[in-house]
Amino acid sequence: MTVRAGREFLALPGPTTIPDEVLGAMHRAPLDIYSEEMVELTAGLLRDLSTLFATQGRTYMYIANGHGTWEAVLSNLLSRGDKVLVLESGVFAMAWGQAARAMGAEVEVLPGDWSRAVRAEEVEARLRADRGHTIKAVLLAHVDTASGAMNDVPAIGKAIRASGHPALYVVDAVASLACMPFEMDKWGIDVAMSASQKGLMTPPGLGFVAVNERAREVHRTAGMRTPYWDWTDREGAEHYRKHAGTAPVHLMFGLRRAVDMLFEEGLENIFLRHRLLAEAVRRAAAQWCEGGALKFNIREPSQRSDTVTTLLMDDPVPLRQYCKEKCGVVLGNGIGALQGKAFRIAHMGHVNAPMILGTLGVVEMGLKALRIPHGTGGVEAAIGFLGDSVAP
Ligand SMILES: *Cc1c(COP(=O)(O)O)cnc(C)c1O
Repeated sequence: MTVRAGREFLALPGPTTIPDEVLGAMHRAPLDIYSEEMVELTAGLLRDLSTLFATQGRTYMYIANGHGTWEAVLSNLLSRGDKVLVLESGVFAMAWGQAARAMGAEVEVLPGDWSRAVRAEEVEARLRADRGHTIKAVLLAHVDTASGAMNDVPAIGKAIRASGHPALYVVDAVASLACMPFEMDKWGIDVAMSASQKGLMTPPGLGFVAVNERAREVHRTAGMRTPYWDWTDREGAEHYRKHAGTAPVHLMFGLRRAVDMLFEEGLENIFLRHRLLAEAVRRAAAQWCEGGALKFNIREPSQRSDTVTTLLMDDPVPLRQYCKEKCGVVLGNGIGALQGKAFRIAHMGHVNAPMILGTLGVVEMGLKALRIPHGTGGVEAAIGFLGDSVAP
């Protein structure tokens, strides 16, 4: 028998739950893409995305997922043979680096360890050693969605500046934007990118890039520029050029509603909501870990992301299967080096206490049903924490 009738819950780190309001906003006829309404829709979204990235720089919007948006960034900054330094903390910056290599860049990895965040002092030391300033850009994922690591983006920004090296600081905020504080200008970031299907609660298919003046200067001489991605081609007065063709009208209707919802809730509340729900997950997981079969992938608690938690276990397949097939909760699997060795609970985007407590309840139920050794009382610990933290 199963207890899974009703809505399936995606506890996946993307695509995340899309609010009904966002789905509803897309259920309409397309706009005349040459109309004033369309021009205003584009301008308003680009302005609001700059607010979300916290930058005075320009923002560009692409029809692409995160992988496409990575290429948008690289092609606008690099020439063949340019060197980039990839800061390893899991799958994502590494995959970005692979794209750079395939495009003709030289890629160096600052080796990390999947059980911890990038160390700022190692970044500074590597840049100081590059006396000839051959490294053009440093690539980092704010949150690595595979390992569950949260990197200290401001500390690494400070380290780059302290080294006196002119490399551009380029940050992937796909798994953090609109979930956790992100301050592009204040943190010394030159280029930031993100996508629609995680904290932004919109279907996959839109990618965003924010760029400061320093990066736009480097862009002028970049040799990898191609017409669709090109920032310069998207500037100027003609609206059609801003999308390099037909605008993704329906995704923009959805995004408009999603961004309005973010501003209605307020970014401060959103960040706090993510922090509290993430901590509830960690409190429950800490109980389960007492049984010995489960372990946090990220060792140091302060380096665990508020958007996704990665838990190590020997064979996560039966647990994921039980949660999905018996209970209708879809957990993330381990990816990259953690494939077959971990599962992930996402807590990003349009999530609330019942969704998270429900998910934790189902995981604990699965641990019990499958006789996986675990400490009990995980859900109780989560409830205790939330009850103490969310004032009446
Ligand atoms: C999901 C994700 C991506 C990739 O996004 P796709 O849309 O799947 O291409 C990139 N970076 C991070 C940190 C992510 O979490």
